[in-house]
Amino acid sequence: MFGTAAYTRPQTVDEALASLATENSRILAGGTDFYPALGENVVREPVVDISALSELRGISREGNYVRIGGLTTWTDIIRATLPSCFDALKSAAREVGSVQIQNRGTIAGNLCNASPAADGVPPLLILDAEAELLSQTSRRQIPLREFLVGNRRTKRRPDELLAAVLIPDAPENARSAFLKLGARRYLVISISMVAAALTLTEDDCVSNARVAVGACSAVARRLPQLERDLLGVHRRELIRRVKADHLSDLSPIDDVRATAAYRMDATLHLIQRALDLCGGQP
Ligand SMILES: Cc1cc2nc3c(=O)[nH]c(=O)nc-3n(C[C@H](O)[C@H](O)[C@H](O)COP(=O)(O)OP(=O)(O)OC[C@H]3O[C@@H](n4cnc5c(N)ncnc54)[C@H](O)[C@@H]3O)c2cc1C
Repeated sequence: MFGTAAYTRPQTVDEALASLATENSRILAGGTDFYPALGENVVREPVVDISALSELRGISREGNYVRIGGLTTWTDIIRATLPSCFDALKSAAREVGSVQIQNRGTIAGNLCNASPAADGVPPLLILDAEAELLSQTSRRQIPLREFLVGNRRTKRRPDELLAAVLIPDAPENARSAFLKLGARRYLVISISMVAAALTLTEDDCVSNARVAVGACSAVARRLPQLERDLLGVHRRELIRRVKADHLSDLSPIDDVRATAAYRMDATLHLIQRALDLCGGQP
């Protein structure tokens, strides 16, 4: 599998960054995207296996941020105690592949693989997540919506590790939901997926709305016009306010999983259902 390529498994982040600085290496985390992407090929570049870097795994609070280490697995997220605004992320975690994949697959692997159908992206977009990138010479933090630049393309430099996903000022009392449509219930790549979060006033009107759609454009997107149009709307009125026009920023493709037209129609219904879940009776 590794051909003649060098394989290292650093025990500290500093060691890993040193390896990434000196060689044009490939990073291996849970391997659940890395190995399938190889197909019949062998790896020619040096491989830096970061799976021993326990300092990059886990969820903590740092000042105004919730910090999710890059090596945090989907199972870790499912098991963590988190406020309701993270419910969409937890639901997405339960939908990633199967339990075995959730045990190995990491949040950073999902983001760096940058599939348009990565289930982690919409729930992180509605949390205004930021990517923390570390190299031997720099530490930078960029919004996830800027980090992901296209199908399988990110702003990560080859010498950088995605060390953590940071959630600033999470709207803790917001209710959130994630819905994924696939051709079957489990182990399936999304045809469309929606994450939504709503904060309601005491009289049940929307004071903050966030909606993101995945698998309907090269990079998952927030829907800012819909978010604005939902402000002040009573929770019983939410479904009626979602119109096809709100999806005009999406650009779904026809492929083996669905036609573009089907994706648009399904997305409209997913958004309505997700808002209904967020705005339903407490
Ligand atoms: C059977 C199966 C079903 C799946 N189902 C789903 C699904 O339903 N939904 C979904 O979204 N995904 C699914 N996946 C894809 C995959 O499991 C997830 O994307 C997972 O989160 C990837 O994490 P990983 O740690 O395994 O990444 P890896 O495979 O180790 O790495 C993926 C990519 O990210 C890079 N990388 C990893 N960690 C870092 C880091 N910290 N810094 C910089 N670069 C890094 C690697 O170099 C590689 O390019 C499935 C995969 C399989 C095999």
